[in-house]
Amino acid sequence: MNKVALVTGGSRGIGAATVKQLAAAGYAVCINYVTNQAAALQLVDEILKDGGHAIAVQADVSKEDEVVRLFADIDRQLGRIDALVNNAGILLPQCRVEDFTADRINRLLTTNVTGYFLCCREAVRRMSTKHGGIGGSIVNVSSAASRLGSANEYVDYAATKGAVDTLTKGLSVEVAGEGIRVNCVRPGLIYTTMHADGGEANRVERLKTGVPMQRGGTPDEVASAITFLLSDAASFITGSFVDVSGGR
Ligand code: NAP
Repeated sequence: MNKVALVTGGSRGIGAATVKQLAAAGYAVCINYVTNQAAALQLVDEILKDGGHAIAVQADVSKEDEVVRLFADIDRQLGRIDALVNNAGILLPQCRVEDFTADRINRLLTTNVTGYFLCCREAVRRMSTKHGGIGGSIVNVSSAASRLGSANEYVDYAATKGAVDTLTKGLSVEVAGEGIRVNCVRPGLIYTTMHADGGEANRVERLKTGVPMQRGGTPDEVASAITFLLSDAASFITGSFVDVSGGR
């Protein structure tokens, strides 16, 4: 029987690249998205044409009832869940701390932190041997920003990724004896449209000379690390962090 994976924010960018690699590796994949139904459905079509299995489910991961509905949809349509990629994240326009508002900070926190916690909760309830599950694997997508702090750009976004790192460490220990591995990838400067949401579409080009490898990364390069950490090839790896950032 095929393993089942959920990729939150799987419609575009790093999430979409991960969906493609997991489908190619034989997973049935649930592609979660929040607004871009066209992108999610196109990806489903591509995977079905290649002989794979995928569904698309709309849900805002920052909302508890929608996360509960997302996992119930997976139960109903795919029958189980073996892998969770917590990837859905947002970035807001570049801004210094002295100009932040509570509304801005809370928007980032609810999507990038609350959403990750809620999806982990639902996954653990299904995967944990303590709850009658057969185990599973979780990969949280953090950011090099959690180490670097994103001064003068988005310290609030960076702090949400610090929380993702802590979630990874704590949860990995909590469920290590229950058949669940929890790991984290921290991408650096990756070519996706997220930087446009931060107010600077060409940000990777501007900053790439500061990367030891002198270039930005591709969504596929991040997806490869995620796919490895989910796989049985990583069977003794938990609570680990893989920096996919060209040495920065
Ligand atoms: P992206 O291209 O902007 O795609 C974001 C994805 O998240 C989309 O699929 C979007 O769905 C989904 N999404 C946003 N808010 C959501 C919500 N509330 N509920 C459900 N889905 C939601 O982003 P990306 O660059 O691939 O980034 C993916 C992850 O990598 C994020 O966690 C980001 O922080 C992290 N990261 C990215 C970089 C980088 O340089 N790109 C670097 C470090 C870390 P729709 O298509 O429906 O809008």
